[in-house]
Amino acid sequence: MRALDRDDALSPLRDLLALPPELIYLDGNSLGPMPRQAAAAVEQALRHEWAQGLIRSWNDSGWISRARAVGDDLAPLIGASPGEVLVADSTSINLHKVLGAAMSLSRRRDPTRAVLLTQEDNFPTDRYIAQGLCQQWGWTLREAPAGTKDWAAELDRPDVGILMLTHVNYRSGEMHDMARVNRHAQARGVLTVWDLAHSAGAVELALKAPGAAADFAVGCGYKYLNGGPGAPAFVWVHPEHVNRTEQPLRGWLGHEAPFAFEPDYRPAPGIDRYTCGTPPILSLTALQAGVRALRQADALGGMAALRRKSLSLTSAFIECSSAAAQAHGLTLLTPLEPQRRGSQVSWACAAGGPDGFSVMQGLIRRGVIGDFRSGPRAGEPDILRFGFAPLYNTHEEAWRAAQALAEELARASTGPLGAVRRPLVT
Ligand SMILES: *Cc1c(COP(=O)(O)O)cnc(C)c1O
Repeated sequence: MRALDRDDALSPLRDLLALPPELIYLDGNSLGPMPRQAAAAVEQALRHEWAQGLIRSWNDSGWISRARAVGDDLAPLIGASPGEVLVADSTSINLHKVLGAAMSLSRRRDPTRAVLLTQEDNFPTDRYIAQGLCQQWGWTLREAPAGTKDWAAELDRPDVGILMLTHVNYRSGEMHDMARVNRHAQARGVLTVWDLAHSAGAVELALKAPGAAADFAVGCGYKYLNGGPGAPAFVWVHPEHVNRTEQPLRGWLGHEAPFAFEPDYRPAPGIDRYTCGTPPILSLTALQAGVRALRQADALGGMAALRRKSLSLTSAFIECSSAAAQAHGLTLLTPLEPQRRGSQVSWACAAGGPDGFSVMQGLIRRGVIGDFRSGPRAGEPDILRFGFAPLYNTHEEAWRAAQALAEELARASTGPLGAVRRPLVT
């Protein structure tokens, strides 16, 4: 593992993050660590731009264009071009905007298509937003089974107007083949909406791949982009559609001429029409530091190099943790095939095996921070999630975390009162 870390050209980038020493942080897929530069940048925004500049800073410090500037910094990370990405609001709100826009575009193209297709194990907020919009629009929300890989058959049904998927599943870490899905959807006239919450900053993305382009995408600022708690999210619309789309949250700053204060709405050209209200400048400033930290990888191979390292880290962790995990009845939810794996490893707990919650609490007490997710439905197992961020995690951390997991599993298979719970050994 040390040799892998020695050969890792990306390893100096870890210093861009303010990680507490001795902590093994494997939860950057939930909240990324603070980029060192974020503290200085936010302090500058507070003490200079706000305190001294006051209202003048909207122009003098570029506050008014900061949301687009951060979008431009972010664009190459997701395979988009400058001018196409807006940073604003939360992922949930951006999902509402793009789904509303996609529904109206789809209805104009073909009013007989009124099914929004998704997957039953999609993240709750995606399902809730879709449920609300379907109810409002009189559409049907159709949920393909968890683990669906062959979307061609689902997309063949002539009533499907939109396919909304999360690229990397938040529980299993399984990744969809975006290009393939987009090709199938495009051939059948179905619009695609992608949630990149667990992809942006962790895996390579090509939203405009020729013949396999996505139509709409949203993603999260506080996970692998290290934008800070509650960081604004991002939204992208294919440039060929964007001026034909109308999003439902018409706010004054998405107007073509916001400072004309006209009585009626006219959408701004391009992605700016996805703006609703005033952007959170302090949060944007922190997110900019996070995105710029990732862009430091450009000179070292960029997202392709980060993706290679991510796979190397998750492979190492799977290899080092498998024997102990399987001895305690855990099963690997994350696909072994690299092209189907995002940047996390999820072990599913077995009924009657060690208690996952207490295993994760034990890991956190000893400085290995992953997270625990309980099974949302009957029959779905609790999981232990370990997120690996290629910007700062190391192979040695993967190895040490696997050792700690083995020890905690052994401890947790002995009940709290000393009663030995029998591990499920197969
Ligand atoms: C984290 C996450 C979100 C977050 O939504 P917020 O609006 O920022 O709370 C949305 N979708 C997915 C798939 C996520 O993993």
